[in-house]
Amino acid sequence: MKIFLRLALSLLLVLPLIACNEEEIIQNLKSERASLQARVDSLNTQIASAEALVKNVRVIRDTVRAGEGPFHLFTRLKAQVSHGEEDLGRVYAAMQDSVEFKLRVGEIFYVSVDSTNRVQRFRYAPNPITVHLVSKTDTGFVYKLVEKPVVKKQSVYEGALEEGSTLNGILFKVGIPGRMVGIVSGVLQCKVAFPLARAGDRFRVLLEDSYYQDSIWVGGKVIYAEFDGRIVGHHEAFRYEDEDPKSSYNAHYTEAGDALVFDGLRYPLEHLRITSSFGSRIHPITGQRKVHYGVDYGAPAGTVVHAVAEGNVTVSGYDDLSGNKIAIKHRDNSVSWYMHLQSRGVAVGAKVSPGQAIGRVGSTGRSTGPHLHFGFKDANGAWINPLSKTMIATPKLEGARLARLKKQVVEIRKQIELTQAAPAVRANDTTDVMVHMRVVE
Ligand SMILES: [Zn+2]
Repeated sequence: MKIFLRLALSLLLVLPLIACNEEEIIQNLKSERASLQARVDSLNTQIASAEALVKNVRVIRDTVRAGEGPFHLFTRLKAQVSHGEEDLGRVYAAMQDSVEFKLRVGEIFYVSVDSTNRVQRFRYAPNPITVHLVSKTDTGFVYKLVEKPVVKKQSVYEGALEEGSTLNGILFKVGIPGRMVGIVSGVLQCKVAFPLARAGDRFRVLLEDSYYQDSIWVGGKVIYAEFDGRIVGHHEAFRYEDEDPKSSYNAHYTEAGDALVFDGLRYPLEHLRITSSFGSRIHPITGQRKVHYGVDYGAPAGTVVHAVAEGNVTVSGYDDLSGNKIAIKHRDNSVSWYMHLQSRGVAVGAKVSPGQAIGRVGSTGRSTGPHLHFGFKDANGAWINPLSKTMIATPKLEGARLARLKKQVVEIRKQIELTQAAPAVRANDTTDVMVHMRVVE
């Protein structure tokens, strides 16, 4: 009896607690169910609208023909959609600071349109692994870069110069694919004075080729080149890879970090990604011919801009077209220009040193997105292509970049060993020469 009472008492005490907890749990479950139901409803709506879209989508496909530029292509596309000028104008605006159109014959463009013939999507793939997509969203057209995975193969080629044979001829003879011969000889010639090269001088080259779906060649690069000459001596070139795959620092260097390139300006940005090069072009939408008196580099707003060489600031101001702009006059009386800046850090009359921070990337003036417009005037005041400008210091990797190169040199030496130990296979489809080759990733 006593026990029963105690049990009843304790039950009386506990029951309300259980009841209370259960109520809470049930309440929670109910609200969870309601929120799940809401998600299901919203997904169903999305599925329905996506299905409707797919049902009504029509894909227009067009191919680049001989002698055509973007204007020809966009003109044809504009004629095939309603509101072509407006929609394709917005498509172009969404990607113009990210994509440079270098059209090749046979390249295919896709434009998807809805049932009202309005543009929904634009697709441009300059190679099998790079796809530029512009899609219509609630907030307008949005650009996206899609990069597909590739398989990389490394091969080692070795040989010696022969009497009466050209360098290119020998490179081809040892199995280097025709498409890479010019690049390899360019790298070798950076350091080696070939009039002084002699028959019997030896060379060794490590190439890396990228393939899409294992068979479609999408690109190759010279990872390493070595030349050992009786008169010219021993030289090595290492391919440096910056953090940014599009950086112009990606080039060949000696182990000490000396660039094996001929032009020698400092770079205005840490990462160089050209979105529009120098020269005359036709606007793909308006058809107007315009000359672009500089190079555009895409970069996030706020990125530090550096002076490309020593000089005096002759302009630090603002106008509606160029936005915030800075001009620096150099020793040879050429002038470098930096435009659309978010902010300027130097005043007229200031002396600047090579590589000095002078401002930040922005989108001021006539600009559709953050980028640096970098221009160069020669001593006579004419605009020239900044990329063809040669003067001042030879670029040399320093600091963190030099440390990165040193690590890569160690890695490259390992790769040469590994590749040389790999089984020999036929170098390519057009030769019987055997080379050591291995798949890297
Ligand atoms: Zn520009």
